[in-house]
Amino acid sequence: MRALDLDVFAVELCLITHFHADHFFDLVILLLEKRFKKSDNKRIIVIAPPGAEENMKQLVNLAYPGIWQRTKAESGLEIIEVDDGKVVDKLGYQITAYRVEHEDIEAFGYVVEKSGYKAGFTGDSVLCSGIEQIIKQSNIAFIDTSFIDDTSGHMGAKTYQKLVKRYRQTCQVLPTHMSDDAREYLINEGYDMAVDGDNLIIDKNVIKESER
Ligand SMILES: [Zn+2]
Ligand SMILES: [Zn+2]
Repeated sequence: MRALDLDVFAVELCLITHFHADHFFDLVILLLEKRFKKSDNKRIIVIAPPGAEENMKQLVNLAYPGIWQRTKAESGLEIIEVDDGKVVDKLGYQITAYRVEHEDIEAFGYVVEKSGYKAGFTGDSVLCSGIEQIIKQSNIAFIDTSFIDDTSGHMGAKTYQKLVKRYRQTCQVLPTHMSDDAREYLINEGYDMAVDGDNLIIDKNVIKESER
């Protein structure tokens, strides 16, 4: 976000799919930003799998020993732990959690609804009923496409291609979490994909648009 000159401090809602480092270690910096930046309107809502509070506490205390309680209080942090099918209403968004299957840890994907428009995000997962539910529910869905072939923890580009075909009529499915190999494979196959800095704009007239 910094590289794109976007305001990190403006983030108020943060969805965590699972506790692997590439999906939650940045929270330390975000919380410290919130804690130390001067503002009357501090708020950060973290929606995450069970164990979120304990994991965040450990992470923050590892970064700077003993600062968890003050950081939690002074960053305006609210933690909401989800389970399968849980619906959370916050800041004008309705967020539904779907359990997905990723290695041996609890993982969730989310569908975020605003003004009747629904955007899905799978996080990391193999193909499972949670993934299909997320795509079925969504107008646009960003799905794990880590490698070319499926692995024991991730969907691959070939599964991505199948899902694009299967849901072509109802959902724009886009790849994310790609390795260089998966990205190159999909570009060669002629697929479009989001890049860093794209904005998905959802306004009250349900206009959807990807701006680059
Ligand atoms: Zn993961
Ligand atoms: Zn990951």
